[in-house]
Amino acid sequence: AKAGGKDQVKLASSEDGAAFALRKQLELDLWNAVEKEEMFLEYQPVASARTGEPFLFEALVRWRHPRLGVIPPADFIDLAEQSGSIVGIGGWALAAACREAAGWPAELRIAVNISPRQLEAGDFPAWVAAVLEETGLAPGRLEVEITESAYRGGLEPVAAVVADLHTLGVTVAMDDFGTGYSSLSSLQRIPFDKLKIDQSLVVRGHGDKRAVSVLRSIVTIGRALGMHVTAEGVETAEHEAFLRGIGVDSLQGFYFGPPLSAKQAMGLIKERFGR
Ligand code: C2E
Ligand code: CA
Ligand code: CA
Ligand code: CA
Repeated sequence: AKAGGKDQVKLASSEDGAAFALRKQLELDLWNAVEKEEMFLEYQPVASARTGEPFLFEALVRWRHPRLGVIPPADFIDLAEQSGSIVGIGGWALAAACREAAGWPAELRIAVNISPRQLEAGDFPAWVAAVLEETGLAPGRLEVEITESAYRGGLEPVAAVVADLHTLGVTVAMDDFGTGYSSLSSLQRIPFDKLKIDQSLVVRGHGDKRAVSVLRSIVTIGRALGMHVTAEGVETAEHEAFLRGIGVDSLQGFYFGPPLSAKQAMGLIKERFGR
């Protein structure tokens, strides 16, 4: 037993070593991933709760690693965020998403996720303006999604960026609402256009009395502040009926469609819009 215990310790530490080495390798690989054209975007439809029709797509990044295959953002965004390579990756994602959306019918909008590092790195609004200019996308068709981790440097810098984006005509959504600690104070101080209810709240919402009350209250807050309210993680007809019933404006989730390749998204758009 003693020997076994020893072996286990050895195994565990060598596994840790391997995991550490993999992390380090991925961290290095991330710096070249854009240049090597390994990053690509998928587009998930967001439907109007009223009509059930898509009017916006959220761009979601994926990494096609030469040896490991397709890696989802959950497995590399944090790493890229910590090392700083997210600034280049996120900048690429914004430009690629705007370029794609510029080829869609003008009533369709595009939402892009922005990480805290991008907000902190120099003049983010100027970068957005340059991308819009270069891609020809009308500013009103772009939405930027910001999560609570963006406020770690304080609310004021974020409020300033949001004001600049508004001047450009770009809208801003508060992503993953309800998962963090400072959601409410940031709502007080930052004039978001949209509130995205996190999927963890949506999943519990259906059938759970307390969760239902929380969701209803969020919609009330959104209304009072003049914000569009959207819900993510809508997986079933029951979710849809419930969320529509409490007054959520738009819905995103597997029930309306998974993230699609650019080609699939174009197919869906042609089918729905006939062009
Ligand atoms: P998010 O912004 O909350 O994006 C929604 C996530 O939920 C996506 O995961 C999407 O595929 C997934 N999802 C969609 N519908 C459903 C559903 O009905 N049920 C469930 N359970 N999940 C659903 P994904 O694509 O793996 O992205 C994970 C996270 O990675 C995103 O969460 C976002 O925070 C981050 N991310 C993605 N793309 C980018 C990017 O370009 N830049 C930055 N900074 N972060 C990104
Ligand atoms: Ca998002
Ligand atoms: Ca989200
Ligand atoms: Ca989320």
